Amino acid sequence: MSSPAPALPVAIVLVAAGKGSRAGREQAKQYVRVAGRTLLAHAIEAVATLGAPIQPVIGAADASDFAASLAELREGIRALVLPPVIGGETRQLSVKEGLEALARRSPPERVLIHDAARAFASRALLRRAADSTGPAMVPAVRMTDTIWEVSETSSRVLDRTALRAIQTPQAFAFDRILVAHRDAAASGSVDFPDDSAVAEWAGLPIGFFEGDPDNMKITQPGDFAAAEARLLAGLPDVRIGQGYDVHAFGPGASVWLGGVEISHTHALLGHSDADVLMHAITDAILGALAEGDIGSHFPPSDPRWKGASSDRFLRHAVDLLRQRGGMLAHVDGTVICEAPKVGPHRDAIRARLAEICGLTLDRVAVKATTSEELGFTGRREGIAAIATATIRLPLERSGS
Ligand code: MG
Repeated sequence: MSSPAPALPVAIVLVAAGKGSRAGREQAKQYVRVAGRTLLAHAIEAVATLGAPIQPVIGAADASDFAASLAELREGIRALVLPPVIGGETRQLSVKEGLEALARRSPPERVLIHDAARAFASRALLRRAADSTGPAMVPAVRMTDTIWEVSETSSRVLDRTALRAIQTPQAFAFDRILVAHRDAAASGSVDFPDDSAVAEWAGLPIGFFEGDPDNMKITQPGDFAAAEARLLAGLPDVRIGQGYDVHAFGPGASVWLGGVEISHTHALLGHSDADVLMHAITDAILGALAEGDIGSHFPPSDPRWKGASSDRFLRHAVDLLRQRGGMLAHVDGTVICEAPKVGPHRDAIRARLAEICGLTLDRVAVKATTSEELGFTGRREGIAAIATATIRLPLERSGS
């Protein structure tokens, strides 16, 4: 038996188990891509600024979406994320699962409970939550609008000076909120709107600290556009890279183009799978990053890359971009050959590239042309491909 780990000062429960039906999207809203990453990835990045362990609570069907979101984050951030636990029927029961998971691992002294839908929690707000004392502390924002209480029989203006909107992260003494959640669940009360309500029900004294009006909760369909605009504003350094590649034909019965195998009278020769289009796109992303070229990252002399599926080269370039805190905005590739015909495979290629790059389909273009039987492609000696990639980087990283 190993001795118990020392208590952590703070841990974070990040609640991402909701279905997000109010946001009007089929996909759970935490997995909708906003500015090149899922909302959940943005939320994790935001709370990671505290440097505390993060306990995610996810939906039972969302394990692969969660893993994909995690892959979009820098390694230093991923290292803070504990294995996810599956949430319950309601938000309240999901939070309880997160607290129980922390209790099993290494109970912290204090826990911050936060909704993934608030992907813009600032470091200052998180710090205020972590530094708060008292068993139950919640971020509160003063009302700026006039507030009416409206009902069928009588409506009236409320005194807004006494009203507060409550946000997350909410901060609690871990032992106290864990007991409150266990008691609430045991009593059959399972649908409290948030943890301050659970704490109040359990008789914990509630204290308030200053919330942040910018700590928006993404709930309505229009909130995604606002969130995207805000995130893009943080990535103002727009760069365009270009790539070019050629592979010669040799004996074989198919070629790989953009991750799709296409039947042909020949194969393409190369150390890897010779996916000329994917190589050009990989070089375009590396070019936009000014991070060398595909040959410097994956030398043809290295036997590890013999016969390699080229998607690993492209994934590597996209990962380098994410490590820099940037996003891929768009890729555009052109295949130059007399044959095979690319058109019938265009949509399959776009879908494959979009999946590898973590892009929506409308940000992936694939085109094809012949060279009018001129030159080496015209003589059917091989296939050439050119590509461009547009990336966005945060300003503080530029010039490094
Ligand atoms: Mg190549």
